Amino acid sequence: MIVRFDSSGALTAEIKEKVHAYLAAQDGSRLRRKMWTKTAIILLWAVASYAALVFWVSTWWQAAIVSTSLGLAMAGIGFAIQHDANHGSYPASAFWRRLLGFTLDVMGGSSYIWKFQHNVNHHSFTNIHDADADIDLGPIARLGPGQPHRSYYRFQHLYVWPLYGLLAVSWVVYADWRDFFSRRIGSNPFAAPKGTERTLFWLGKALWIVVWLVVPLSFQSTGTWLAALLWTYLVLGFTLSIVFQLAHIVEDAEFMIVDDAPARVKREFFYHQLATTVDFAPKSRWLTWYLGGLNYQVEHHLFPKVCHLHYPAIATIVEAVCRERGAPYYSFPTFRAALRSHARWLYTMGQPDEAPVAAALPTAAKTGALNPAAPG
Ligand SMILES: [Zn+2]
Repeated sequence: MIVRFDSSGALTAEIKEKVHAYLAAQDGSRLRRKMWTKTAIILLWAVASYAALVFWVSTWWQAAIVSTSLGLAMAGIGFAIQHDANHGSYPASAFWRRLLGFTLDVMGGSSYIWKFQHNVNHHSFTNIHDADADIDLGPIARLGPGQPHRSYYRFQHLYVWPLYGLLAVSWVVYADWRDFFSRRIGSNPFAAPKGTERTLFWLGKALWIVVWLVVPLSFQSTGTWLAALLWTYLVLGFTLSIVFQLAHIVEDAEFMIVDDAPARVKREFFYHQLATTVDFAPKSRWLTWYLGGLNYQVEHHLFPKVCHLHYPAIATIVEAVCRERGAPYYSFPTFRAALRSHARWLYTMGQPDEAPVAAALPTAAKTGALNPAAPG
């Protein structure tokens, strides 16, 4: 399903003007230095954890600690390196961006498919039922009001957490292959990779087998390694999933249902992003560093082609404009507050009766009404 919004408007114009003025005054070389330093630290963390897991660990408790470290380091690559690189916001040449974006392939996900699934699908149709594949967990859980109810969803706020861990395992064994062969992300088609991109797709898959199976199995027993690998991927998938869920699948975020496709919605695209996306823990310097600014998802969704190191400064600008114009701007003060809201939203969506669910919603828009008028 394709949904189009207004690309311009008074709110959009004011935010863009102020943010572009801020960006024009920044020192590009300092930004590049900071990003490369951060990239080196995270990659070293991942490589050291991998080397220790393959060549050093000899007991189960060592394997548990080191594979947890490796899973967290890989999530760090996902948040702070590949995400900027594959969005085109990493401050480097196209060659380096493609190379850094390829780290996702080494971890088991295709960067080619990710660009369609994330950059195009999720960023264009955020929280729109049947268009944003990221809010569709199929039979696993009900994340939005447009999705059908099943009786066991009443317990989704309890059982869903370990299943979040399966995200990265799914890339490797299922989701990428399903998308690659069906040529669809959710309900939308995408072009098959050609030339270099096709080579990179298959190279990534082959490299995954070498890095994660051939090399380690030469040094570790099959049982030990498969257990360590599974735990690494559960930690990776859980960490990635939770950060995504806290930005969109929480009480304040709006969900939209569009009946007729292709749809043209009378709303500024920026307004839609502000209504469907939420920041969390903006004061946590550690989370801002580790999550590659993805605790500032609002700013990321407004300016996906801007390096994440700018997001805290951009947030101040965006929040001020939104407050002044009465546009939505949602931010949880802490990670914990966002996590609790996500759990409450899961509970609400899991209940069978629609009426109390709608009554519990913070905004009328969440009942599925298209949208309030964009402020002038
Ligand atoms: Zn993104």
